[in-house]
Amino acid sequence: MSSGVHAELVCFSASCRERFPITAVLYNCPKCGGLLEARYSGPRPSAAELRDVFRQRRLSNLPLDSSGVWRYRELFPFLDDNAHVVTLREGNTPLLDAPIAAQYGGLDHLTFKHQGFNPTGSFKDNGMTCGASQARRLGMKRVACVSTGNTSASMAAYAAAAGLEALIFLPHGNISFGKLAQALEYGARTLEVEANFDQILALVRVLAERLGIYLLNSMNPFRVEGQKSIIFEMLDQRDWNPPDWIVLPGGNLGNTSAFGKALREAHQLGLIQKMPRLAVIQAEGAAPFYELFHQGGELHAVTHPETLATAIRIGDPVSWPKALNEVCSSRGTVEKVTEQEIADAKAMIGRAGFGCEPASAATLAGIRKLTSAGAIAKNADVVAVLTGNLLKDPDYIYKYHTGKLETPNGSKIRATFGNQSTVVPNDPDRIAALLA
Ligand SMILES: *Cc1c(COP(=O)(O)O)cnc(C)c1O
Repeated sequence: MSSGVHAELVCFSASCRERFPITAVLYNCPKCGGLLEARYSGPRPSAAELRDVFRQRRLSNLPLDSSGVWRYRELFPFLDDNAHVVTLREGNTPLLDAPIAAQYGGLDHLTFKHQGFNPTGSFKDNGMTCGASQARRLGMKRVACVSTGNTSASMAAYAAAAGLEALIFLPHGNISFGKLAQALEYGARTLEVEANFDQILALVRVLAERLGIYLLNSMNPFRVEGQKSIIFEMLDQRDWNPPDWIVLPGGNLGNTSAFGKALREAHQLGLIQKMPRLAVIQAEGAAPFYELFHQGGELHAVTHPETLATAIRIGDPVSWPKALNEVCSSRGTVEKVTEQEIADAKAMIGRAGFGCEPASAATLAGIRKLTSAGAIAKNADVVAVLTGNLLKDPDYIYKYHTGKLETPNGSKIRATFGNQSTVVPNDPDRIAALLA
């Protein structure tokens, strides 16, 4: 269906807008250093045709159709040949109602789009399937990223599935093996460099050019294309009725950029008639985008970002220009929340029967603040995106419920909704008395 569509990379900077072939191996604009994005032109199917095809594919067992990303492939037609696609049947994540969380957030109703149901447990898979497919299309043999978290887990999985070598670069001595466990199991080669994160990013760019390694870090424009599918699938699941608000956590802001682009494109294609508003939630100790949104001017990086929600512990988010544009044009907002607020909201999402990782819980904590301030109405139609799986961070959970969780600067986090196990003797009478 996508035949005749022309795809290219375009510089996002309004004063540049330089264009490049879709097959150029670029991560930033070589002219001005700006972010790049994929743009499409030429004949596109009608909204009615698209809605129909997407729905029919749910009955198909073909790998591309049963992926919750590639099912929507007409909406990111950057590949010339679908034979390049590498898929683990990512996406296909549920929309879940959570009355207990809605009440906690000050809403009549609240729906979660749970990206933790992905193959490696986070939304990074929605983007990585596209990034890895583009790597194959370009004939690359090796892919790399600088990350200790969900990006490396996802990249390692897709590289393995695609037959590519995965290289993960990390600051030496700063490793949490809990987060790296997945990447090691998927067979990624992991290099600890004696340098800090920014130095390593610069180093990896040099190596990527010299050795022909394809970079799959956050600024890769094809990851953003894949993450648009989170929005397309959510809209499809709601029969293309957009909610009033979409709430998500913000770290490097790639997802915010992807959501805004997806909504604009869905609107342009006539798939939706109304634009939802985006609410981005940051952790108080890593909130440069919150400051930018409310103070204006340029982004001031946070030198030592701190939060237990490690997936959003980002001081200098690469995608801020795109994200700012998307939040503003959707008439959205940015909020920040404390460690205690994240921890309590996370426990409430657990009580709904599915749970999430700490960064994801920033959404509910943010909703609670935004409803009590009157920014989101009590009867608003709200979808919050849970970005990662509960099991990503079991240590945090155990500590919270046993009252042992501390903020990065050492203050205690209250176990407001704590739930501890009880030791009992092997005695039916006493256990029965306890349970009476
Ligand atoms: C990557 C990640 C985020 C942050 O997303 P950005 O696109 O960097 O803003 C939030 N939550 C989880 C679980 C993540 O893995």
